[in-house]
Amino acid sequence: MKRCSHCRAKFAPRFANAQLCPTCTQQRDQVFELYEQFEDGMALLRAALADAEVENNELRSALADTKYELVDAEEDVSLLRGALNNTEDDLITLRFALAEANKQIAALRQSLLDAQEDASLLRDALADAEDEVLLLRDANAEDIIPPDVLKLLIRLCHPDKHGNSSAANRATTWLLRQRN
Ligand SMILES: [Zn+2]
Repeated sequence: MKRCSHCRAKFAPRFANAQLCPTCTQQRDQVFELYEQFEDGMALLRAALADAEVENNELRSALADTKYELVDAEEDVSLLRGALNNTEDDLITLRFALAEANKQIAALRQSLLDAQEDASLLRDALADAEDEVLLLRDANAEDIIPPDVLKLLIRLCHPDKHGNSSAANRATTWLLRQRN
């Protein structure tokens, strides 16, 4: 008989080196089994934890990428907003320029109408002046003594035929001047 090293109970050992009674041996084996199960469970948990860490890292990386993409998208939105503002400013400037140009065109059209009116008045004045010139020419033409008549008058008024009178001299002098 031996004494159990654990519970101190007496027992008949089945093996020469047995230290524990059958009850304690059974309990020890159960503990070993439980411990193995615990280790297996721990291994599974560790593996699951490792998987979870890998997944967590992937998610963190994906989150970081998403954050970068968000920042890029925000920059794009900011740039687009700036471009839109510039376009609106340009549009306003162009509208002002267009309004100014339209004003100038209207002013130029008015100036053109005025100039056309002036030209029309000048044309009328020119036509009047031409009429006057024609009338004056006609009047002058009436004043001019035809050459053959002048010759005749000079002969008729000659002072020799009028006793060298001052009237004959004056008339002859005037008539001679008309020859030019
Ligand atoms: Zn025992």
